[in-house]
Amino acid sequence: MFDAKQLANQGIRNLQPYQAGKPIEELERELGIQGIVKLASNENPLGLSSKVRAALQETLSGLARYPDANGFYLKSKLAKKFGLDSAQLTLGNGSNDVLELVARTFVNAEHEVIFSQHAFVVYPLVTQAIGAKGIAVPAKDYGHDLDTMLAAITDKTRMIFVANPNNPTGTFLSSEALQSFISKVPENVLIILDEAYSEYVAEDERAPSFAWVAEYPNLIVTRTFSKAYGLAGLRAGYAVSHPDIADLMNRGRQPFNMNSLSLRAAEVALDDEDYLQQSVAVNAAGMEQLIAFCESAGLNYIPSHGNFLTIEVGDNAAELYQQLLHEGVIVRPVAGYELPRHLRVSIGLPEENEAFIRAMRKLLG
Ligand SMILES: *Cc1c(COP(=O)(O)O)cnc(C)c1O
Repeated sequence: MFDAKQLANQGIRNLQPYQAGKPIEELERELGIQGIVKLASNENPLGLSSKVRAALQETLSGLARYPDANGFYLKSKLAKKFGLDSAQLTLGNGSNDVLELVARTFVNAEHEVIFSQHAFVVYPLVTQAIGAKGIAVPAKDYGHDLDTMLAAITDKTRMIFVANPNNPTGTFLSSEALQSFISKVPENVLIILDEAYSEYVAEDERAPSFAWVAEYPNLIVTRTFSKAYGLAGLRAGYAVSHPDIADLMNRGRQPFNMNSLSLRAAEVALDDEDYLQQSVAVNAAGMEQLIAFCESAGLNYIPSHGNFLTIEVGDNAAELYQQLLHEGVIVRPVAGYELPRHLRVSIGLPEENEAFIRAMRKLLG
């Protein structure tokens, strides 16, 4: 009897596939309804910036050719903008690709990988895929408990994931707390600081994480174009690290992991300050709108530094998620993150947030 599972690598066999937010088209098919509002994947509600759209049009004519495998222009732009050397950069098909690449480059089945309870699901996923042992450290007030994470380091620990802000909780670590933690992690343990939501954090609160990379060679910072830059569907992300780490990761990387469209879009998005500022402003306003609703409805929420709010809706969260679907509103259940009483809602345009609020008021009675 053919048994594919017997042939598969140990780590893959028991892997639960990543649960993405429900696509609008899928709900349309299932319920036969239109006008669906998706607040499930922390996407940018502004849609594609017009500058990026124009650049993509121009790029189409070159698509018969392979992309630039080294992403020369994007790396140069990133380096210039953030005062880095191109040799410190590793580009990815979204930062998810880079997170996996770090794990594949440095971790094997003998190792332990530390992350926080309620942290981004990709961390346990890539750890398990490699067959390494994941150590989930209990959260403190829904966020990373850095002291306990430090205490969890053993001589088998090869890597620690820290998301700041974290998804799906939106919790945030101060610069001081983070630097104190990083300075105490032994040099042979890599720290992946995932800053997917960094642009939504007030500038004076943001950690000088790229500067830290020069000071702490075991620190790898990842960023993405999927959130504040609005390019989730194109897949563009990157890591900033010590050049020796980048060199190793670039050996294992698929040569064309960023395609011609995503490379060009990211280059243009990086310069599109107006779009970025608008993203942040729309997010701040939407956050206020959702918080005002929670307070008026007497619902607890986890204070968030990202583009989403995780709301404690109670024991019937799974049922409420389904009921919201029938109202044409897609949010994200987070029971898989050990948050069975919560739902995560991405910040949308004012009218999208309003559609969620209206549906909630109707369902909560
Ligand atoms: C959305 C997200 C990412 C980015 O994913 P991409 O692959 O870049 O689209 C990375 N980390 C966290 C914590 C996220 O929420």
